[in-house]
Amino acid sequence: MISVIFLIAISTALHAQIPEPVHILMKYYPQIVKYENNRVYCKNGESFIFDDGKKKSPQELLDNPDIEDMFTYTYQRGALSAPIERYFDPGRIRYEGLFKAIYGKTKNEVAKNLTTIVWCPKTARQMIRISTINDIHKRVMEISKELDEHPDWKKYVSNIGGTFNWRNIAGTNRISFHSFGITMDINTKHSHYWQWVCDCTDENKILTYRNAIPQGIVDIFEKHGFIWGGKWYHFDTMHFEFRPELVWK
Ligand SMILES: [Zn+2]
Repeated sequence: MISVIFLIAISTALHAQIPEPVHILMKYYPQIVKYENNRVYCKNGESFIFDDGKKKSPQELLDNPDIEDMFTYTYQRGALSAPIERYFDPGRIRYEGLFKAIYGKTKNEVAKNLTTIVWCPKTARQMIRISTINDIHKRVMEISKELDEHPDWKKYVSNIGGTFNWRNIAGTNRISFHSFGITMDINTKHSHYWQWVCDCTDENKILTYRNAIPQGIVDIFEKHGFIWGGKWYHFDTMHFEFRPELVWK
C-alpha cells in the first residue's frame, strides 16, 4: 500500500515538472517521448530546448521561436467575436525542428508517409496527398465526408489549392507547413491572403482583414483538429493545418 502511494506521489511529481504546453503536445504526438531539464525528447533521438528564456518581438517569435513560443497566442474555436489584434497569429509561430522530427526532415522522408485520398467525392472529387502520421489522413477523410453533405459549399471545396508541397512561405526563410502534408488550402478563388490584399510581404504592415469562407466549413475542420488561417492577423483564409495541440488542447 505504501509503495502504491509512493508511486502515485512520484508520478504526480514528475507530471508537475512537465510544463503544460509539453504535456498537451505529448497527448497528441506520440513521437514526443520525454521532457527533462527544459528539453523535449523525440522518439528519433533528437531533443529540443523548450524555453530559451529570451524576450522576443512579434517578428522574432515568427523567425526564431522555441517550443514554448508556439503557445504565445491562444487559438479560440468557433466564430471570431472581435477584430483580430495586431500580430495575433495563433498557430503561425512554429518551431520547425519539432515538426521535422515528427513528419520528416526532407521532401522524400515526408513523401514516404503520404497517402492519396479522394477529397469530397460527391461535390469536388479531387485526389489529394495527405500524411498518414498520427492518422491525419483519417481526419481529413472525416472532414471530406462532412463537407460533402453540403452541395452549397461546392465552390469553396472544389479546386483545392494545395496539400503537400515542399517549400518555404513566400517572402520568408521559414518552411511552409504544406511541406509536411498536414495542411490544405481550399479553393484560392474564394479565399483571401494578407499578402495578396496588401500586395506586400512585410509582416509589420497594418492589414485590412477580409474573409468569405463560411463559418460552417471552419467548424468542421476545427472539430477534427485543424486550425484555420482566417484566425490570424496575417490572415490566410484558404489555409487549414493539423494542429491539435492548439485547437483541442
Ligand atoms: Zn496554405
